[in-house]
Amino acid sequence: MDYFPIFLRLTGEPVLVVGGGEVAARKIELLQRAGARITVVAPEIVAAIAERVTAGQLQHLAEEFQPQHLRGMRLVIAATDKHAVNAWVAHHAERDNVPVNVVDDRELSRFIVPAIVDRSPVIVAVASSGDAPVLTRRLREKLEAWLPMRLGTLASLAGKFRHAVQMRLTDAGVRRRFWERFFDGPLAADLLAGRVTAASDAVPLRIEAALADAVQRSASQAEVAGEVVLVGAGPGDPALLTLRGLRALQDADVVLYDRLVSNEVLELARRDAQRVFVGKTPGQPHIAQSQINALLVELARSGKRVCRLKGGDPFIFGRGGEELEALAAAGIRFEVVPGITAAAGCAAYAGIPLTHREHAQMLTFVTGHCQGSIEQQQDKIDWELLARPRQTTVFYMGLAHLEEIVQRLCEHGAPGERPAALIEQGTQATQRVVTATLATLVAVAREAQVAAPALLIVGEVTRLHATLQWFNATSTPISVPLALTATAEGRLTA
Ligand code: SAH
Repeated sequence: MDYFPIFLRLTGEPVLVVGGGEVAARKIELLQRAGARITVVAPEIVAAIAERVTAGQLQHLAEEFQPQHLRGMRLVIAATDKHAVNAWVAHHAERDNVPVNVVDDRELSRFIVPAIVDRSPVIVAVASSGDAPVLTRRLREKLEAWLPMRLGTLASLAGKFRHAVQMRLTDAGVRRRFWERFFDGPLAADLLAGRVTAASDAVPLRIEAALADAVQRSASQAEVAGEVVLVGAGPGDPALLTLRGLRALQDADVVLYDRLVSNEVLELARRDAQRVFVGKTPGQPHIAQSQINALLVELARSGKRVCRLKGGDPFIFGRGGEELEALAAAGIRFEVVPGITAAAGCAAYAGIPLTHREHAQMLTFVTGHCQGSIEQQQDKIDWELLARPRQTTVFYMGLAHLEEIVQRLCEHGAPGERPAALIEQGTQATQRVVTATLATLVAVAREAQVAAPALLIVGEVTRLHATLQWFNATSTPISVPLALTATAEGRLTA
């Protein structure tokens, strides 16, 4: 992050604008909206500024910039068309520690001015650190279309009742849940849709009723008891997180996550949520499953909303079931949000259809881990079944046992020319796909230095990778905010 985003309270504060052209006029308009006390320094000013001077809204000094103009200023904006003057202003502002913006010149600027969507008191600011102003504007347009027009009304109303709510609901967690319910609830929907105005008599009554309900809930302990949401994070690309998963992630007080959960997904958690890594790092001591179970129970008992985030789908080789059993035994409320499992994600992004009318009528997900039992030939896997033709077999956690897996398949009659694919870091920008046959797989994987996490797919369908990968637009990573905006827009226009 190259810039620290803040919102500055400028009401009644002195701000200097150097320059009197149209660009300066636009900045002045914005500063005035924020209530700043503006001084304009410029030998000449355009009509739009002159009108404001006449109306007594700002002070005009009809002269060239002098360093002493900066004295006592909170901010300065240099908007002249002369680079030398702007640089001169910036130099002195820096020296005097007055934050400076030179319009369209980030090298000279200490701060930059974002594109905004103004639903005051809600203000959404977007900036690209000066790299891509046109993209920033596009994003602003999308946000403008997406954010309800009456958002400001809703936020003002919340502001009006904030103190009363604080007095009645003293516990911070209970209060947060009250507001979440409020913003998701029918009153907020009515206000946003314009069915009810903020000034309506019904509004205080409805808020009072909601408050009474919250007080009752907290007294009955229903609210103080925490809960656990088991969320499938998908195989890596954050765009593959479900909307419900995103919601659970943003509502959580604590997020417990595994090694396979990508940073991009983790980033989507609430800023102040506590993040706890409970995954396994190869070669390092790790927290035992029983300890994770105990931690989940303990956190929920202390009233926390816990998001247990697992790579892929929690019920597919994710030990989700074991954790839920522990929660059920302890009487903790829980919920499961499915995720896109590695097989589905990797196959889609690699252009390998897992079933195909011509090639595969059966699909099996197998764990290649088996806790060492493959080598000891004591595994419980039906190799005879997996060796048969006309099917696809997906091995999770198979990389470390690649040699044994190939050997067992071939021993049970799978032909050496049966094709297979290894997908490393599937769905991520770093995804690699390596294809081979059972006869060559071990050597090819070694040669390509395939590393975990990797998924092994065995079957005729893997041949399709050669033709389908090129047409597979989904392998371009999509950023989550854009995808969400598109969804929301789609809904609005539908
Ligand atoms: N619950 C997870 C699977 C956990 S087991 C799911 O549904 O996807 C861990 C194994 O999943 C890894 O050893 C690897 O074989 C596979 N895996 C998970 N994410 C992957 C990814 N992004 N690319 C390739 N393989 C992945």
